[in-house]
Amino acid sequence: MPTATLTGTCPECETGLTVPPIVEGETLSCPECLLTLRVEDIKDDQLTLQMVEVQLRDWGQ
Ligand SMILES: [Zn+2]
Repeated sequence: MPTATLTGTCPECETGLTVPPIVEGETLSCPECLLTLRVEDIKDDQLTLQMVEVQLRDWGQ
């Protein structure tokens, strides 16, 4: 029976992450460095995570 969680590593701080099952394209936050990470790929319950460029403030036109 497959495990109920997925694991990955934060590309920024290399913290090991354990998350509930999610799908490719979803985002999550690293609890250590608080970066927003997007799931690029899932293989054998291992996540490939990619940093997401986050706008810290609105463009404001
Ligand atoms: Zn991190």
